[in-house]
Amino acid sequence: MTKNKKRSLIDRLNTGPVICAEGFLFEIEKRGYMSSGEFVPMVSLENPEALLNLHRDFQHAGSDIVQAFTYNGHREKMRVIGKEELLEPLNRAALQIAKDVAISPVGKEQNLMAGNISNSNIWNQNDKKSQLEVEKMFREMIGWAVDEDADILIGETFYYAEEAYTALKVMKETGLPSVVTIAPYGENIMRDGISILDTCKELEQRGGDVVGMNCHRGPNTMMPYLKEIRKALKCHVAGLPITYRTTNDHPTFFNLPDNNGCSCNTPHETTFPTALDPMQCNRYEIGQFAKEAYSLGINYLGVCCGATPMLIRETAEAVGLKVPASKYRENMENHYMFGKNKRIPKHIKDYRNKA
Ligand SMILES: [Zn+2]
Repeated sequence: MTKNKKRSLIDRLNTGPVICAEGFLFEIEKRGYMSSGEFVPMVSLENPEALLNLHRDFQHAGSDIVQAFTYNGHREKMRVIGKEELLEPLNRAALQIAKDVAISPVGKEQNLMAGNISNSNIWNQNDKKSQLEVEKMFREMIGWAVDEDADILIGETFYYAEEAYTALKVMKETGLPSVVTIAPYGENIMRDGISILDTCKELEQRGGDVVGMNCHRGPNTMMPYLKEIRKALKCHVAGLPITYRTTNDHPTFFNLPDNNGCSCNTPHETTFPTALDPMQCNRYEIGQFAKEAYSLGINYLGVCCGATPMLIRETAEAVGLKVPASKYRENMENHYMFGKNKRIPKHIKDYRNKA
């Protein structure tokens, strides 16, 4: 199959769910190839096989999109760590790895390779100079993505509305399908004072092909906004929550308390980002989110920070898909104590409530 025979993103969305694995930052960190907090995706240069493996694991679990891991791989971040000269090599390596995975699917169909830009963290609503700088950063990254044959472009995790609009403008210059997802903080409004819903409406007006939310919020605090967005927009909508149990008091993972009482003696001011584990959603909660979102008409689904291949499989299966990893979904029938297999001895089964 050649590249131009790939079904387009919109064709796929028009006929059913499209799954996109995000959350590379957290998962690569957990796998031991990135420093938490600093969060620079040097993995594409330093341990390319680790990144390739994660993409393949997500693909096996049902991700239809292979998103190049260039999150935080922008000029400003590279300046922070004093490695600006590695900016282009890092981007190209990440894009090439994603491309390699996308064109050799384990499922029936070739995956879409996505170029990726995201929150720059220098956007300042009162400083035009910072805005031009961000636009330049977006444009160079999008240029490399187009150069490396991206099928679609994803702009994500924006918490300034105007920064999201700028990302969309730059992405649209290429003519490629665009996905833009926003990630408002705990005040439930964009940092430049525009409401979540109005930001999404404006993104649609400005030509976003897929508009929605990703990151920062778990299923509980993302779903109410997705419902509003789905009702108000005509275009396809995206929902990619983090996998933590955020609450109305703490709508994002940045200030999420560990109410079970963390017993460690290591001083950490916040549970974010290294001690969130006890607030992790289980697979059924993630599946429930996907099922509900899909029933509302939200067809672009995935998981952001906290994503594991298992949770991507759960997302895919929750919306009726069978994926390569479905072969290995849980089978408690044959568990040595909880199973119902007739070979399991009665004295073992009977002990289950005391185990
Ligand atoms: Zn995330």
